[in-house]
Amino acid sequence: MPKDFLKGTRDTYDVVVIGAGLAGLTSANILARAGHSVLLLEHHYQLGGMATWFKRKGGHIFDISLHGFPVGMIKSCRKYWTKEIADSIVQLKGIRFENPQFSLRTSFDREDFTRILIKKFAVAPETVNRFFDAARGMNFFDDQSRTTGNLFEEFFPGRSDVVRLLMEPITYANGSTLEDPAITYGIVFSNFMSKGVFTFEGGTDRLVTLMRAEMERNGVEIRIRSLVEKIEVSPDRRVTGVVVNGRRIGCRAIVSNANLKATVLDLVDPERLDPAFVEEARAVRLNNSSCQVYLALKPGRHFDDVGDLLFHSEHRGFDVQAMLSRSISSRTFSFYYPRTRPGSDRSLIVSSTNANYRDWADLSEDDYQASKNDLCETTVACLERYIPDVRDKIDYVEASTPRTFQHYTRHLQGASFGTKFEGLKVSRDLPQQVVGLYHAGSVGIIMSGWLGAVNYGVIVANDVDKFLTIPGG
Ligand SMILES: Cc1cc2nc3c(=O)[nH]c(=O)nc-3n(C[C@H](O)[C@H](O)[C@H](O)COP(=O)(O)OP(=O)(O)OC[C@H]3O[C@@H](n4cnc5c(N)ncnc54)[C@H](O)[C@@H]3O)c2cc1C
Repeated sequence: MPKDFLKGTRDTYDVVVIGAGLAGLTSANILARAGHSVLLLEHHYQLGGMATWFKRKGGHIFDISLHGFPVGMIKSCRKYWTKEIADSIVQLKGIRFENPQFSLRTSFDREDFTRILIKKFAVAPETVNRFFDAARGMNFFDDQSRTTGNLFEEFFPGRSDVVRLLMEPITYANGSTLEDPAITYGIVFSNFMSKGVFTFEGGTDRLVTLMRAEMERNGVEIRIRSLVEKIEVSPDRRVTGVVVNGRRIGCRAIVSNANLKATVLDLVDPERLDPAFVEEARAVRLNNSSCQVYLALKPGRHFDDVGDLLFHSEHRGFDVQAMLSRSISSRTFSFYYPRTRPGSDRSLIVSSTNANYRDWADLSEDDYQASKNDLCETTVACLERYIPDVRDKIDYVEASTPRTFQHYTRHLQGASFGTKFEGLKVSRDLPQQVVGLYHAGSVGIIMSGWLGAVNYGVIVANDVDKFLTIPGG
């Protein structure tokens, strides 16, 4: 008999949360804490979504998306998770850029960037201050036709080196480009600049274990290996339940943390939605995907401090297409020293590059394996510039591609950072289409990354709580 992963679940709940990414986990926790009955359904065997890890022979543990997030995570985790989680967030001070235009180290905050822009890039102090103030002052209601490219042209005309310094890390962090609305850049960049880049001490596995314990304390029913196949909507357009692993479970509200387009276009019967809304959802552009190479050093072997995050590029200037190309010229290295997991004797390196799904989707199995091997080899060769004897110290190497991300998270085209800006409106409008149906998860560039996903989970949980407590909700 196949194992019944839904064993012990009830027939109805106040809320079903589809997907255990950071937004889904946060929504589930808040709603259970508010006294609602919550069932959290995750198709994978692990919670966390993109915030995940994997183990390999020899005791190696690799983090997938633990490269850095803004300081705001501390406040959000203290308020909506636990003090222990918030207290485990620590700063990364060694952010490094190595490219044909410049070579520098920074703590990646406003004070240090101001110093660098004035001293190294010879930008007028007044321009630097005005730029930081303009970026920090941006909000959701600003003019959305102004692009990030327009913003840079206004403050730093003709300065491709300055644009690279300001933009390259954000493109890596959320896939945004010079064509995206300036507000998406301003909000995310200012979040990082307020205090720098932070990480979670103990690794993603420890974070998710702590989150699971907190959800269990609050009464969330958690089921893994549970794929939601359908969101059930009544003819008068109210949520009535889900079909999961072939079984129907009733509920009054649903928070879908699945990919926005998959939620609207695959899980809901289009007959229950306005045709114009379906078209709007169809037109939402997905964000790009990623490739990664995971490298573990032999137990007890280490390297000298080469920084925490290194933005390496061989390209002449900042070029998003070059960053996405399969012919890789840019990589972000995350260096994990034993201090990342106190008590461990391991040093690991993860190399990340932005990638186009299509470049990987249609390869034959042989070409796919060959391309992954090539990715591993060129990454090690690149790394030798910074750690000359790294090849002798490596114990294990593996690569992932957009296909890997699609497989594990069910994001269409393996989208690493959800959707482009227009996805936010579709996500927010969903409850007006179907009463009781909400979406929380990476959308609109602003609501992505660890902080964006957690904060969006909070916003949506508050909406659902209001809905459930009003008469008739
Ligand atoms: C390579 C990479 C590096 C990154 N680095 C960083 C970083 O350094 N800092 C940072 O802040 N962010 C980073 N990110 C982005 C960040 O990890 C994500 O934005 C964030 O974790 C997404 O959270 P989410 O809530 O949107 O859900 P997701 O993580 O996308 O999770 C959605 C969940 O829903 C589940 N699901 C989907 N469909 C169904 C279904 N039908 N039934 C049941 N379950 C379903 C999936 O299995 C998944 O668990 C990175 C992402 C990638 C890919």
